[in-house]
Amino acid sequence: MVRRPLGNHLLRPHTHLVTSDAEKETAPVADETEEHRKMTELVRGARHVLFDFDGPICRLFAGRPAHTIAREQVEWLDAQGLGDVLTEKERGDDDPHAALRSLGLQRPDSDLVEEMERRLSEQELWAVRSAWPTEHADPLIRTWAAVGVRLAVTTNNSPRAVRRYLSDRDLSGCFEPHIYGRTADLTRLKPDPYCLHRALNALGAAPAGALMIGDTATDLLAARAADVPFLGYARNERKAGLLRAAGAEAVVSSLEPVLDLVRKRR
Ligand SMILES: [Mg+2]
Repeated sequence: MVRRPLGNHLLRPHTHLVTSDAEKETAPVADETEEHRKMTELVRGARHVLFDFDGPICRLFAGRPAHTIAREQVEWLDAQGLGDVLTEKERGDDDPHAALRSLGLQRPDSDLVEEMERRLSEQELWAVRSAWPTEHADPLIRTWAAVGVRLAVTTNNSPRAVRRYLSDRDLSGCFEPHIYGRTADLTRLKPDPYCLHRALNALGAAPAGALMIGDTATDLLAARAADVPFLGYARNERKAGLLRAAGAEAVVSSLEPVLDLVRKRR
């Protein structure tokens, strides 16, 4: 990976990249892999960027692991006598949305779904206080907004939690009003493309000129259903493997190379 110094020197050719024509023919740049080429194409082609929230922007549950919240939801459902609405796989799922999605599909509009959603929203709002910003996400968001790319958040999290986080980091202006999160209709959680469609419509964006950045297979499936190109962000190899297995063509383990590309657009 080519590393560039931070600061205002990014438009100058980097000394490490300055080679003679002869050298260029015999010494391929190390990062010219197919995946890097694809990532470059995705980032350069993006006029609108739809960010998933938990993962690409921050680790929402850094202070309190998501799997703890997911387990508590299963226990809460059990306590309501509704544990059997979940499959074994859903009971063991680390994603707090799995149980909610399943209950929403089976008992739409029920008070129980409403109560479960309300409890999760409160937990997400609480989690904002201890969320960890994803490395390079803040400058990437600011730089993209500064070069005129329009941004939205398309997430399964509560839009209230997203707004609070962005406000705390002084990033609201880069997104507002385009925060599309969980609604009362839980059948519309990703992988359903509903939140992406809302964003595209409100931004007046063509799907092919947009880019979704997400960290789960549900993000990829939602992007695919909306015909929006997808860039995977994975903070570890396990998550990268899941994204690639789901068909992601480009997965980055850091937002730094994305930020480098966007800075070159200035
Ligand atoms: Mg996510």
